[in-house]
Amino acid sequence: MTKHTLPALGYGYEALEPHIDTQTMTIHHSKHHQAYVDNLNAALDKHPSLFDKSLVDLVKELNSVPEDIRGAVRNNGGGHLNHTHFWEVMTPGGASTPSGKLLEAITSTFGSVEALKEAIATAGKTRFGSGWAWLVVDANKALKVVSTANQDNPITDGLTPILGVDVWEHAYYLKFQNRRPDYLTTWFNVVNWDVVARNYEAAL
Ligand code: MN
Repeated sequence: MTKHTLPALGYGYEALEPHIDTQTMTIHHSKHHQAYVDNLNAALDKHPSLFDKSLVDLVKELNSVPEDIRGAVRNNGGGHLNHTHFWEVMTPGGASTPSGKLLEAITSTFGSVEALKEAIATAGKTRFGSGWAWLVVDANKALKVVSTANQDNPITDGLTPILGVDVWEHAYYLKFQNRRPDYLTTWFNVVNWDVVARNYEAAL
């Protein structure tokens, strides 16, 4: 039985400056993400056999989670999974723009990389309240942009997320206050398209 743990960031809290500020990164990772991990473990303590299940499988098969902890696993398992993904797609030093197969798919689906960014930003801006905007691969291997509420992850709906952006206020409020659209525009400066390309290949 292994409890879930907070994954280390692959870079420092200051690494995404000036786009994403150090204080936001520190609180977001060490407090918010840590809380999702702790609350997930607390829920699973009531059904310890579920510690043998991977995080992805827990969130993918939410309906098989016992009802008394399903809500907690949805929120906190989703929160753990979403944030783990989020830190990975923001690693600095990677490709600053898509290339190869991923670029071909983006161009044929959305017209251009700019149009894709626009679609993701619109999904994030129009998500009322807290949630996420995603680039996903659907069951037909097609690219799609979707958004989810709260800490829901598209894998629960049979979609494979390859790029997700957190639009909860805690992700941007210290630096951008109410300006979620500015945060979304800025965020694309720190996307690591190498990781997105790897996620895309894995989803195909
Ligand atoms: Mn968050």
